[in-house]
Amino acid sequence: MHKITLIPGDGTGPEIAIAMKRCVEATGVKIEWDIQEAGDDVFKKEGTPLPQRVIDSIKENKVAIKAPITTPVASGYRSVNVALRKELDLYQNIRPVKYYNGVQSKYENIDIVIFRENTDDLYVGIEFEQGKPNTLELIKKIKEFNKQVISDDSGISIKPISIFKTKRIVEAAFKYAIKHGRKKITVVHKANIMKHTDGLFLNTAREVANSYPGIEFEDRIVDNMAMQLVQKPEQYDVLVLPNLYGDIISDLCAGLIGGLGVAPGANIGNEYAIFEAVHGSAPKYKGLNKVNPTALILSAVLMLRHINEEKASNILEEAVADVIKEGKYVTYDLKKGRNDSTAVGTSEMADAIIGRIETILKENS
Ligand code: NAD
Repeated sequence: MHKITLIPGDGTGPEIAIAMKRCVEATGVKIEWDIQEAGDDVFKKEGTPLPQRVIDSIKENKVAIKAPITTPVASGYRSVNVALRKELDLYQNIRPVKYYNGVQSKYENIDIVIFRENTDDLYVGIEFEQGKPNTLELIKKIKEFNKQVISDDSGISIKPISIFKTKRIVEAAFKYAIKHGRKKITVVHKANIMKHTDGLFLNTAREVANSYPGIEFEDRIVDNMAMQLVQKPEQYDVLVLPNLYGDIISDLCAGLIGGLGVAPGANIGNEYAIFEAVHGSAPKYKGLNKVNPTALILSAVLMLRHINEEKASNILEEAVADVIKEGKYVTYDLKKGRNDSTAVGTSEMADAIIGRIETILKENS
């Protein structure tokens, strides 16, 4: 029996969390779910969107699966997602980008894995608010240090990139490539402009690559990477990126394989792991039983692999792939036209996946 923390999230999170849980249970894998509420509704009740009990639960169980949580823009509390990654040192954000037959996409044959650094870069959250005394003091100091003039009415965000954090994400990507028979690593940066941050990322990655001569290594400037991914995505295998570019490029890649509804993710550290969809809480669809549960279900596929439930993981992935390929019991985003009246809801798509799991289990018995 595995004990796993389940965070249902907010917005459309709870609907897809239930769908995911039902599909995982249908595989027959034995899981005791430790359900921990977090997010906007919890903030209203408990004064914090991320109570300590949630962190304690993940620390105890080591593995969690999390539906999306809303982050207020430009005010209020900081992102729960970022806080969890920081607190548990989940430095690898792994986002597989795989094309499933039947998905509405201009592309086929895409099978990329993104390794996004998850703890460094602009996401460390060191920010100086415009007009505040500390901000003005910092602007003065910067002028003294290197004669650069920053306008007094600026807000400032700090972008640290360290050797240690770069090394461990690049090493994780190489180890993953070897374990999964991948051939090439592409490191993505803007080192031509940010020499002391992105330049450090690139140089550190190059050094790590020297220890893995069996894997091809190359680099791309992030803007060029965005274009290349749109023009010839089939040329890419494993991408390694600093935090911010990783976030942006993984949404671009989700677009290549049919959108956010089918893009899963994993946040992994040396001790703990949290699995979650790439997409957010899509609050405008809250309570409508409308959004696609696939991304979170495919995140559960990754989770099952992580806890060595290979068989359950394969059955779940096969069932999802079959339902998408058939194209009948799928949500609106997987239909040819967005207003297709034959689209089913979140729970009906989960029902179809469960039906398929039962058939596969019968065929295998
Ligand atoms: P979003 O991913 O929630 O939604 C953007 C659009 O993508 C939606 O309007 C919808 O059209 C589509 N979409 C997303 N998920 C879908 C699904 N499962 N099925 C079908 N269509 C889907 O992005 P947003 O609107 O920018 O963010 C909403 C909130 O979620 C914000 O508060 C943001 O901070 C938060 N967020 C949370 C996480 C997380 O918890 N890991 C990740 C990203 C964003």
